[in-house]
Amino acid sequence: MSSGSGRVLRSSFPYKSGDVAAICDRCKFKFYLSELQKTWEGLMCCSACWEPRHPQDFVRAVKDEENWKDTRRPGTDRFIEPGDHTVAALSGDKSWL
Ligand SMILES: [Zn+2]
Repeated sequence: MSSGSGRVLRSSFPYKSGDVAAICDRCKFKFYLSELQKTWEGLMCCSACWEPRHPQDFVRAVKDEENWKDTRRPGTDRFIEPGDHTVAALSGDKSWL
C-alpha cells in the first residue's frame, strides 16, 4: 500500500517480541518503537525524520575587550564668541593652529 507522499505503508504490524507499534512525532507514520530514535528535542522520530542538532546552536559569543590601550585625553574645548575670527591665517592668531 502506498501513501500520497511516496512512502510505503505497512498495512499490519505483525507481533514482534519485545517491540510495539509507535508513531513518529514528525511524519506521523507508524513504525516499530525500536525503529524510532530520540532527537535532542525529545521527539521520537523515524530515521528519515531524525536530524542532529544544528552546530550553530553551540556557538557562544566572544566577550568583547573594552579596555582600550593608548587612548588620548580629549583636548580642551575652545568656544567662539561673536566677533571672533575663525580663520587663523586672516586674524594672525596662531593660537588656533
Ligand atoms: Zn518520521
